[in-house]
Amino acid sequence: MKYALLDRGDRLSRELSEQFQTLAAARGLTPDDTAPELVLSIGGDGTLLQAFHRFKDRVDDVSFVGVHTGHLGFYADWQKDELPTLVEFIATKQPWKVSYPLIQIDIVTDASTVSHLALNEFSLKSVDGTLVAGININDEPFEMFRGDGIVVSTPSGSTGYNKSLGGAIIHPSLEAIQIAELASINNRVYRTLGSSIVLPKHHHCDITPDPEEQLYLGIDHLVMPMTGVRSIICRVAESKITFARYRPFPFWNRVRSAFIGSEN
Ligand code: NAP
Repeated sequence: MKYALLDRGDRLSRELSEQFQTLAAARGLTPDDTAPELVLSIGGDGTLLQAFHRFKDRVDDVSFVGVHTGHLGFYADWQKDELPTLVEFIATKQPWKVSYPLIQIDIVTDASTVSHLALNEFSLKSVDGTLVAGININDEPFEMFRGDGIVVSTPSGSTGYNKSLGGAIIHPSLEAIQIAELASINNRVYRTLGSSIVLPKHHHCDITPDPEEQLYLGIDHLVMPMTGVRSIICRVAESKITFARYRPFPFWNRVRSAFIGSEN
């Protein structure tokens, strides 16, 4: 088994990373940063986002496993004192594979169309104040948005930025994307739906800003300043991220323990 390892870079994550490598070597697992079968992230959900972006070109060929140094996360299902068990399972057990949808984001300028994948979400904001952008759904005009920004999330990203915007939490077995508004302006002149919208796999949305506008395009933890954007097309991607599961990690248990607590 060939594995790649990425840690958050803090002292605890680095120590755990060294511990993992020692345990893995004793079990005959081989480090391989070029063509791994398994990608391990040690840190938090943010570290798994970084691991995804490092290996997104091989997303159809790798499985991910996350170790959390704090509370269990949404992507990281192993805790810091469980590394010996995790290595034992990787060396001896056949995991089952769980796949979560991703978003494909096509950014259209006069010069090119560039595609990206996001695990949590795509976000759009204006550098100078209010964002003004048209939203089309399946090539039909839907609304003209004015406000702080627009966030389009995956089901597994629905517990991240989307949740802070009042979006619904979507189970990652559903192939969908969710569009949520960031502080839209709604008065006699400007009007948007005001609720978040969930689109199925065979639908897409186009966001059309003013090409003169300076924008911030966010893809998970990455932010790109851009101008000259004619359109941004978001849809459920054909590829999915795959997690190797060595024991159950039910989504609704994670939601409950993250947002409600086990005492309730
Ligand atoms: P960060 O600001 O360092 O971390 C943001 C927090 O979001 C961390 O606690 C992280 O968990 C958590 N998180 C990441 N993915 C999640 C998910 N799918 N469900 C629930 N929580 C999640 O930024 P980062 O570590 O680079 O992560 C970027 C993510 O932050 C974005 O993709 C976005 O979802 C989220 N974000 C949220 C807001 C907001 O809620 N207002 C604003 C901007 C960005 P860990 O501590 O386990 O890493």
